Amino acid sequence: MGLDPSIVKELIRITDEERVLLSLDERYTYAFDASFGTYLPDVVVFPQSATEIAEIMKLANREQIPVTPRGGGTSLSGGPLPVAGGIVLAMTRMNKLLRIDRDNLIAFVEPGITTAELQREAEKAGLFYPPDPSSSNVSTIGGNLAENSGGPHGLKYGVTKHYVIGLEVVTPQGEIIRTGGMTVKNVTGYDLTSLIVGSEGTLGIITKAVLRLIPKPPARKALMAIFDEIVDSGRAISGILKNGILPAKLEMMDQASIRAVENYQPSGLPLDAAAILLLEVDGHPAAVDEEIRKAAQICRQYAAREVRLAADEAERAELWKARKLVSPAISQVKPTKISEDATVPRSKIPEMLERLRQIREKYQLHLVVFGHAGDGNLHPNIIADSRDRDEMKRVEEAVAEIFKAAVELGGTLSGEHGIGTMKPAFMEMELGSAGLDMMRRIKQAWDPNNILNPFKIFPQPGQTRVVLTE
Ligand SMILES: Cc1cc2nc3c(=O)[nH]c(=O)nc-3n(C[C@H](O)[C@H](O)[C@H](O)COP(=O)(O)OP(=O)(O)OC[C@H]3O[C@@H](n4cnc5c(N)ncnc54)[C@H](O)[C@@H]3O)c2cc1C
Repeated sequence: MGLDPSIVKELIRITDEERVLLSLDERYTYAFDASFGTYLPDVVVFPQSATEIAEIMKLANREQIPVTPRGGGTSLSGGPLPVAGGIVLAMTRMNKLLRIDRDNLIAFVEPGITTAELQREAEKAGLFYPPDPSSSNVSTIGGNLAENSGGPHGLKYGVTKHYVIGLEVVTPQGEIIRTGGMTVKNVTGYDLTSLIVGSEGTLGIITKAVLRLIPKPPARKALMAIFDEIVDSGRAISGILKNGILPAKLEMMDQASIRAVENYQPSGLPLDAAAILLLEVDGHPAAVDEEIRKAAQICRQYAAREVRLAADEAERAELWKARKLVSPAISQVKPTKISEDATVPRSKIPEMLERLRQIREKYQLHLVVFGHAGDGNLHPNIIADSRDRDEMKRVEEAVAEIFKAAVELGGTLSGEHGIGTMKPAFMEMELGSAGLDMMRRIKQAWDPNNILNPFKIFPQPGQTRVVLTE
């Protein structure tokens, strides 16, 4: 359809010519994320300040043009897809680390900084920013805040929301507001910071964040426990947590993910194992020694046939490298990867593993399970081929059953990837109609013209399933 030339002219006036992309090939680059669907924006704009964004939002409201904020584009749920066309606000040029305040253990950042860069800068200051999505080299803090992203550290240290104490936000109607502040404690009025975090770019555009840092743990040790039955690995997770150990990371890989990694890049993983657990403890060196010894003992009690302790830092790094290889490795099996993150209470992990096995058999799909098992956030991934329509239909049904199983076990549709375009049809199943309606009313109050990131989170009339076939 394209934008009226007068609007393009105004966007160029607000920013400059070089920061407004109009050609088809450039716009096409912003039509994807790491999930499904291709939606071409009419224009891509790179703002450099909150003031510019406020002006763009006022223009968008006046002209009724949809606006979609975008960070690194690594979303697995469709969050940055410009479903209704319009303007993509690419936040990647607002990427400065503004300041690390060592006295108050906080960092001031612009939203386009990558997660990994913030982690590196915190380390240089002897501090630690724990949220660690596996996409950290590409994902941005703005995207992490909007999705409330987690990662392996979530088990002990929590997720992004636990490290944000203040935000600067441009509202959908173009006001610049500040939420929270610089103090760890703050109960002045409604907690708008928490409302914006996890709102998937539908309530406001984050233009600055004040993030909490913590002292860097002085020591860490890791182990791999090998199991002949996947259900035993699930029981061992509960066993470890019940026995007073809180690992910094506790990850699981099933046989299919072990084999995929070994095929892709041999890493010394046991090919005949049904599952492995990777566990790391951190803290004071004496406590770390004691905890890793105890964790190994518990794994053996829960039928681990072998426990391998990483002897030094290099071996520890090797263990985690194997875990990081799962995503690229399974992508070699077939071209289409559907990454789910349904999450269950930790005591229900063995039951969820059994439900996933049944779903795999019922739909005859290549379903791989790995992920942040220590916090119940399993990652069932289905590997398929989007050109095979019959297979994709089975995937759609299997995904719906995964959501249903998680909710029936007292869990949730999404532990960290968000709802986006992928899961709206299932929102009512988890929240009930009154709960969902309350969320709609919040959206309506913030964004009466439904300008900001429309067609996300909330189901459209008649939307009853996940749509993977275009
Ligand atoms: C290989 C791989 C591994 C992954 N591992 C993890 C993991 O371990 N844990 C995890 O939680 N996720 C993971 N993800 C998902 C993804 O990386 C996260 O959701 C991440 O936070 C997205 O950040 P981004 O900068 O790429 O945001 P985008 O994908 O660009 O956008 C995500 C959402 O944020 C909104 N947004 C972006 N910037 C702003 C802003 N400044 N203001 C308001 N809204 C904004 C967008 O509108 C969109 O809704 C993984 C993805 C991949 C591809």
